[in-house]
Amino acid sequence: MEALESILNVLFPSTCACCGQVLVQGERQICLSCLANLSRTLYSTYDDNPVERLLATRARLEHATALFHYRAGGTVQQLVHSMKFHGNAELCIAMGRQLGLDLLRSDRFDDVDLLLPVPLHWWRRLSRGYNQSELICRGIAQTFGRDVCTGVLRRHRYTRKQSQQRSSAREGNVQGAFSLRHADRLAGRHVLLVDDVLTTGATLGACCAALKAVPGIHISVATISVAGR
Ligand SMILES: [Zn+2]
Repeated sequence: MEALESILNVLFPSTCACCGQVLVQGERQICLSCLANLSRTLYSTYDDNPVERLLATRARLEHATALFHYRAGGTVQQLVHSMKFHGNAELCIAMGRQLGLDLLRSDRFDDVDLLLPVPLHWWRRLSRGYNQSELICRGIAQTFGRDVCTGVLRRHRYTRKQSQQRSSAREGNVQGAFSLRHADRLAGRHVLLVDDVLTTGATLGACCAALKAVPGIHISVATISVAGR
């Protein structure tokens, strides 16, 4: 199998999603040089970080972090667009692996039981072919471990793309958009809610509002990136 992979790599070399250089063995989707140049937040390592402060107004969380800074026109934005709008499913997993490694460096997420992707409405999932947050969770599972829990938290309302809206419109857009099925699967568990970008926190806040109904649940949050901080 490995030999076949090597032959395929010679015939169809994978290239870096940032700079386009051919990847060498051990690199996944992003070359090591580009990976080192992405702007990391280091929020996973300390309490009361800017992500925790932003989300504290919306939900009672155990811990929260985002891996990279997201700036308009920057490399992280380019990567997130590639994950969401250009069908690069493998990049979602690769970024999830990086987030998982980051969580491992901190002991603040040690008692997380389950990975919970922010769900897409079924129609959006069908048209995109995958839920990027679910693939990020699969990447996290490869490095940080834990099971991925899908089908419990559900997005029952189709909403316009958040990125196309002003922040005031985002609030009403997602409020009440999420619901639970078989919520008992989450009772008494510490879940890590996972998304690609944190902007105003409206989506994560709406997820937490739905999850609040689960008895004894503890919630932490991890995203690939955070905008404008
Ligand atoms: Zn590169």
